[in-house]
Formats: sequence, structure tokens, C-alpha cells
Amino acid sequence: MEKILVSACLLGERVRYNAEVISLSDEIFNEWHQEGRLVSICPEVTGGLSIPRAPAEIEQSSGKVFTKDGDDKTDAFMIGANKALLLCQRYNIKYALLKESSPSCGSKLIYDGHFAEKKISGQGITTKLLREYGIKVFSEKNIAELEKLLK
Ligand code: SF4
Repeated sequence: MEKILVSACLLGERVRYNAEVISLSDEIFNEWHQEGRLVSICPEVTGGLSIPRAPAEIEQSSGKVFTKDGDDKTDAFMIGANKALLLCQRYNIKYALLKESSPSCGSKLIYDGHFAEKKISGQGITTKLLREYGIKVFSEKNIAELEKLLK
């Protein structure tokens, strides 16, 4: 059975920057959960950041991650990304389902780095690293696509 790395917040864990709890209500996702396929991680919390924490965005010119006040959080984001990769390697995980638009977990969209609520095409720090190692990353918006691959 293929395991899937999943963003902890999608499982209702209180790990988001604003400490908000979200939950993903999806039949396929629930099935995967019941089958024991899901291995969860929050790269930002695993990287040492607190709950709550200041929102951060990726600066497009440098690829670094900053809070609105200009604090460079790139190191913590990289630690979290590397721990997510280690988890994939430990469990031989080839697929990930990560929360869209996050500076760590986004897979198609991220915020533009200007804290202007504007999304652009791009990927988060963890997603980028996982993809460099051949792991296929999806978001909660394309679960059906991942399901097809697993069949
Ligand atoms: S880093 Fe990923 S898992 Fe953690 S709160 Fe953000 S989107 Fe969710």
C-alpha cells in the first residue's frame, strides 16, 4: 500500500500560522486516512516555528522566506522541508498531498511575496525539495488526480 505524505493541517491539526483549525472533508481522503496511508507533517512547526507565528511569504527575487516585518525564516523552512524529505525516504513515500498556497506546502500557487493577498504560480519550499527528489506533490484541490495515479 502506497503511503502519502500529508500536510498536518489538512488532518485538522492545530498547526497553522494563525492557529486556525481547518479540516478537509473528502471521501477519498477519509478513506486513505482509515486505511492508514497518511503520514502527516507540518514542515513549519517541525522546522521550529511556533503556533501561532507571523505569516511568511517567499520573496520571488531571492527565493528566501520572510515575514512581513522582514524576519528571514528561510532556515526554519529548509529544516522543515528536509525533515519532510527524510520522512518520505524512511517510509518510501512517493506521493504527497499538501495544502495549496502555503509558502511550505503550496504546489501550484503561492503568495507573491508582497503580503498583498496576491497569489501567483509557484511552489512552497517543502514542495520544491520533495519534487527535486522525485516525489509527486498534489494539493487538496486535486485529490482525484492522485487517486488515479494510485490505482
Ligand atoms: S506548513 Fe503546511 S502543514 Fe504546516 S500549517 Fe502550513 S500548510 Fe499546513
